[in-house]
Amino acid sequence: MTPCLRFAGANPSMPVADWRRHTAQLSLLVSLISFGGSAAAQIRDGVVLLYHHVAADTPAATSVRPETFAAHLDFLQREGYAVVALDDVVAAAIGESSRLPPKAVALTFDDGYRSIYTTALPLIEARGWPFTVFVSTDAIDRGYANFMSWDELRELEARGGRIANHGTAHGHLIRREPGESAAAWRTRVRGDIVSAQARLDAELAHPSPYFAYPYGEFDTALERIVADLDLVAFGQQSGAIGPGAILTQLARYPMATGYDSLASFAEKLRTRALPVRVLEPESRVLAAGAAAPALRIELLDGPYRRDGLRCYVAGQEPAAITWSGDIATIRAREPLGGGRHKFNCTAPSSDAPGVYYWYSHLWIQPRDDGTWYAE
Ligand SMILES: [Zn+2]
Repeated sequence: MTPCLRFAGANPSMPVADWRRHTAQLSLLVSLISFGGSAAAQIRDGVVLLYHHVAADTPAATSVRPETFAAHLDFLQREGYAVVALDDVVAAAIGESSRLPPKAVALTFDDGYRSIYTTALPLIEARGWPFTVFVSTDAIDRGYANFMSWDELRELEARGGRIANHGTAHGHLIRREPGESAAAWRTRVRGDIVSAQARLDAELAHPSPYFAYPYGEFDTALERIVADLDLVAFGQQSGAIGPGAILTQLARYPMATGYDSLASFAEKLRTRALPVRVLEPESRVLAAGAAAPALRIELLDGPYRRDGLRCYVAGQEPAAITWSGDIATIRAREPLGGGRHKFNCTAPSSDAPGVYYWYSHLWIQPRDDGTWYAE
């Protein structure tokens, strides 16, 4: 299995915990590849949805209106989706895909806003479905308006929810303070995550060993910290999760007003994980003023049409793709500029009409003057 050897060789400095996980995922991939099509037919993916506020009076970019949220839940029920615990999706990612029923979906909420308690919880509880809320513990400890209290989080746990780690201060964790050494950065960021986990452990009965990156921002160094802490981590890049998914960069579909129609919701739910291996570059963080980036990925076997691969970049023409065997080099048409960006790559299923295999690649870039964007 030369692709796996190449993958192993590309990460010589990977820490042990990380390495063990990747190795387990690799051996699974090897067995799937060896069995070919018959095993592929048994692969099950799960989709994780990400909400923030369920309210009409909060910012559109992080809100879904209550009636839209209710319509999403009605759709899941009507169309026979299985709303599962995040544990089951993670199990599928590490190869226990038999735990995952067909049409599996998990519900997550970031930040711990009060509308989750007042508005989302009753709607979910009425259906008896599990869900997970990632909280930044400072907001709860300080009793910020619009956030749940620890009492409410305990009640939410008792009524079917799980609570997980979203850091202490909701910082941009990949950013270095002025003059901060790599070691000092590691200590500070590790401390933020560990302190949040300690608060969850102290206040709650069953906190989950999962982490959601604030703003969905991660880089390789942050992934190593999270892996060393034995946390499984979720981003905000879109896509489904299937066997072989990297446990420090699990995808979720963010839901926001304007992008939450039932048609778009249904399309996201139908997606499958596009099995790719990222070859280059190692870092997702681009230099200030960087030229249009190129991403080199290897596409692994699966029941999708490789010739139908398209990669979309917001505000630009679709990226240019050049092929060398199974390896695609995907280049944006224009520089990305300061901010968070994604290449959203899709390929149509070869046997299921309307189903797309999906891989979303995150890029992070400071503004041209080297300073960071506000949010
Ligand atoms: Zn957040």
